[in-house]
Amino acid sequence: MSETAFVIVQDRPYGAGVVAGRPLAEGEVVADLSECVIAEAPSVYTIDVGGDRHIDGPQVRYLNHSCTPNVYVDTERMDVRALRPIAAGEELAFFYPSTEWDMVAPFDCLCGAAECLGTVAGARAAAPEVLRAYRLNRHVAERIAAAEAVRSA
Ligand SMILES: [Zn+2]
Repeated sequence: MSETAFVIVQDRPYGAGVVAGRPLAEGEVVADLSECVIAEAPSVYTIDVGGDRHIDGPQVRYLNHSCTPNVYVDTERMDVRALRPIAAGEELAFFYPSTEWDMVAPFDCLCGAAECLGTVAGARAAAPEVLRAYRLNRHVAERIAAAEAVRSA
């Protein structure tokens, strides 16, 4: 993993973001989350890693959401990986409901993708059939399964 894979920028329309500092290969680790800290409470900056724990750090704070993500935040391996080859300068973004069951600050996504969620409010608020198209972390998949079990009981 090179330092330049993950470059924090401040010039996004919505504030800060992260871009690829060089071309990235599919599957490449672009950030290590092991240095993140456990946050006292979830916020717009934190990522849910399951077990009622939310992490914070520069590796997660500036990663924006996309409904067509190019990176995956893996809360078991505690890293961020490229989902496909990524060009230098391309913004790195992950699918927030892949880690977040609930979000403290839902927002309207402007990504423009055909499959755009519209309002991004965590996996809890998204339709299970929409979520099935995405790779989700186990703690989120378990909550979806539990919610579906309650619904069909
Ligand atoms: Zn979207």
